[in-house]
Formats: sequence, C-alpha cells, structure tokens
Amino acid sequence: MVYIAGMSIRTILSVAITIAAFVVSLGFGSRANAWGMLRALNTKFMKSYLAYSIYKYHRINYCLDIESGSAGHFHKRTLDTEVKWALGQWLEVVRQYTGPVPLNSVQCASPNLNIMVYVGPSTRDDFDPSYNDAHIHDLDEYFVKIVLNSDFRYRYDGSIYPVYDFAYVVRQFLNSGNFSLSFFLKEMYANKYSFDEIAAWVAPQWGADGKAILYYTSAHLLLHELGHSFGLCDTYDVTQNCDPNFSSHWNNEPPSVMGMANYLYLSPDDIEGIRALFQRFAPISRTPEHKRK
Ligand SMILES: [Zn+2]
Repeated sequence: MVYIAGMSIRTILSVAITIAAFVVSLGFGSRANAWGMLRALNTKFMKSYLAYSIYKYHRINYCLDIESGSAGHFHKRTLDTEVKWALGQWLEVVRQYTGPVPLNSVQCASPNLNIMVYVGPSTRDDFDPSYNDAHIHDLDEYFVKIVLNSDFRYRYDGSIYPVYDFAYVVRQFLNSGNFSLSFFLKEMYANKYSFDEIAAWVAPQWGADGKAILYYTSAHLLLHELGHSFGLCDTYDVTQNCDPNFSSHWNNEPPSVMGMANYLYLSPDDIEGIRALFQRFAPISRTPEHKRK
C-alpha cells in the first residue's frame, strides 16, 4: 500500500500572493523566525521522515528514479550530485545531534530505502513542479519520496519550460567542457549566491525570465523538498501542512528555503527549524540499540 500524506510546494501564483502578503506584513512589527514542523509527524508516517529514520538507522539510503523520456535534461550523475549537495547542507547543521550520517545509493526496490527521488509524471491532479510524500511499503517499511514533476510546464512569453536539471541550465551559460557541478554547487553555497545573481548570468541566454526558469530547476527544489523529507513544513502558507504545536512564530516570516523556496543555501530560520526538529526526536537516539526495530 502506498499512502500519500500530501504536502507540496505551491504554484507560482500562490507563491506570488504569499510574497505580496509578506511584503505587506513587513509594515507590522519586527521579523521573527517562522520555521515549523509537519502535522504528518503526529501520525504513524512520522517514521517515514528523516529526522526519525536517521536516529534509528544512522544512515540515509537513497535512490534515484528518472523516468525515461522525462523532459528537463535530467541525468542520474548530476541529480546524484545535487541530492548529496542538498542533503549535505541539512545534515551539516545537525551534526551535533547525529554525528556523521553516511549517504548510500541503493536500488529503489530496496526494503531499506529511506528516500526516493523520482523524476517523472506526477500522479497528482495539480500543477506542482515538485513535492514530497510519506510512503509505507507492504512490509511496514517507511520512506519519503520526492517527485520532480516532468509533466509540469511553466509558460512564459509564448514559450513553455519544464522543470530542468539545474546542471543543464548552468552548463548553458558556462559553456565549458570542464564544468564541474559539485565544484559549482560548493561555490554557490560558500558565497551564498542569490537567485538574482545567478539569473543575471543565465538571463542573456534564457531571456528576461531567467529567474523564473531558475525557479524550476532541480537543485533548490531538492533543497526545499528535502526540508519536508526531514519533517519541516511550508512557512509561506502555514495553514497548509504546519503543526502549530511544533512551530515558532508565524508572523513576519523571514526569507528561507522553507518559505520562499528560491534559495540555494539554508537561512538562519531553516537552521533553527531543523535543529529544533532533531531536538524533538533526540529521545529516539537514546533508545538502546536492541530496542530499535
Ligand atoms: Zn513545500
């Protein structure tokens, strides 16, 4: 049985509305942190989420599944680099709770799977470019699944853009045979390059809508969806999947990966949220080994 707990990033329209509301809200009071945790953590699907499974298994087993014929120029090698880069950002800031967490690439049919990254048509009846779901195998094994929706099409100025592999888009403007994705991602993370800066490089080749195209690329979508995979909720619309009992203030949300989503590095708000999440699940790490079943 596969169960869909149901959480997603919104369409560009609702994001725009949220941004507008955010700008309006700036006029009222000071900014507060705004992280929150998923309501789904209160259900049995809690076991699917990485904040739980890392304490239990002390590793992350992940698999990549790219449907043949998917648009967006996805490659297993570059997607693998991006997944490890995005996982690494989240794991780095909770290392004091978890210690080192090995990342193992496994088959998607593995019963010991913790997270699946799927590129293919969405089974949902909506227009999300990406989303994260909790799943359970028949054998009572839990995992999370990130979907990069290959059916998604962003329309702009008469052109139609799918969700692209970030590596493909970047390669277009670097135009270099020596392009190293992992080096580029590390540079962007170290220097905290903004979407605006990267879009300014991309724009000459991709038109005035470079930022929108960049918005629908895999690297930052993965960073956001992985936030859900750990157990964090969407702070751009707290009514959607956030648990009010495990969240900070929800007024005047600061920009963040779990808020606006258009970031390639974690904000202080994201870091505070993921640390609170691991503190919440810390008792699992103190469960004696023989009781971990
Ligand atoms: Zn989301």
